[in-house]
Amino acid sequence: MIKTRAALARMKPYVPGKMGEGVKLNQNENPLGAAPKALAAAQEALAGAFRYPDPTATALRERLAGLWTLPADHFLVGNGSDEIFRLLAEAFLEEGDRTVIPATSFSYYRIVTELMGAEPVVVDLQAGTMDLPAMATAAKESGAKLLFLCRPNNPTGGIFPIEAFERFMAEVPAETIVVLDEAYREFDPSDFPSEQLVPRYPNLIITRTFSKLHGLAALRLGYGVAQPAIWAPLLAIRDPFSINAVAAAAGIGALADEAHIEASIELVEEGRTFLYELCAELGLTFERSAANFVLIDVGRPATEIAAALEERGVLVRPCASFGLPNAIRVTVGRPAENEAFVRALRAILAV
Ligand code: PMP
Repeated sequence: MIKTRAALARMKPYVPGKMGEGVKLNQNENPLGAAPKALAAAQEALAGAFRYPDPTATALRERLAGLWTLPADHFLVGNGSDEIFRLLAEAFLEEGDRTVIPATSFSYYRIVTELMGAEPVVVDLQAGTMDLPAMATAAKESGAKLLFLCRPNNPTGGIFPIEAFERFMAEVPAETIVVLDEAYREFDPSDFPSEQLVPRYPNLIITRTFSKLHGLAALRLGYGVAQPAIWAPLLAIRDPFSINAVAAAAGIGALADEAHIEASIELVEEGRTFLYELCAELGLTFERSAANFVLIDVGRPATEIAAALEERGVLVRPCASFGLPNAIRVTVGRPAENEAFVRALRAILAV
């Protein structure tokens, strides 16, 4: 019998949202589609497909450096932000090490921890966002190497203020790397000075993605921002060609597409309000969200509601795999899609 590593037997694999056509509100994608300038740049880059890509996506990093007012060596581009999480785990975690992860949150933090035979210390959310004091304590007590924060949190959409973050960073041991996952940051209207944080904290990494705001989920492009010492071991072990040249070119196009960025943010802000009003009308509990989705408690097994919605052509994410059996996460769509969701939900709940 061929045997895998023991750690694999203990892991649960990632559960992706269903693929499908129609009103697709289950994977927090951009309902306006990809940024047009990204598509044009990608098209142009295709002609160069016969060449190996630049291993570190230098041109994209230089563009990011301009946006963040930081040197280009502070950026690591990845095949989605997922690749950055995995590389961090591979570079820093030994068997038996600890990480601190929030629950309920994005499942990949646990997956990369367990992949390495490390163990997550799970800290429950507080009011839909990170319980920062409890997470700092957990880091101290467990000697965690990595600690994951998700802001806005998936699936609740919750955020914490800068003052709470600063108090937290003062408490966290210098030996713990704090990963601040900002996959949905651009949809958050609050004042949070992400760009100023990395120079202040040598143990902080911020991650962003092109999958959400910029509508490039299929191209797999994300990045991390940190002081370069953190990136050195990751650069040494990464797959040298994980960022394809078409994706890197698209990323540069996307950053320049201000019209698409603005339209996407506006659409989400309006759609969130529309969904809140619906929930209030139907008497359903929901979380106020700083992201492009809303978590709704449907008061009964969400897998059934999601299946009934699917029969009516609407895909949403039932949150059982997140440990929330009565909740669905609904991505904000175009107005007609949000309305289709509402019609279908009303029919199912018969209200
Ligand atoms: N972080 C969070 C919180 C997410 O929800 C997702 C995607 N679902 C990711 C990271 C991964 O994004 P990417 O497509 O860049 O790998």
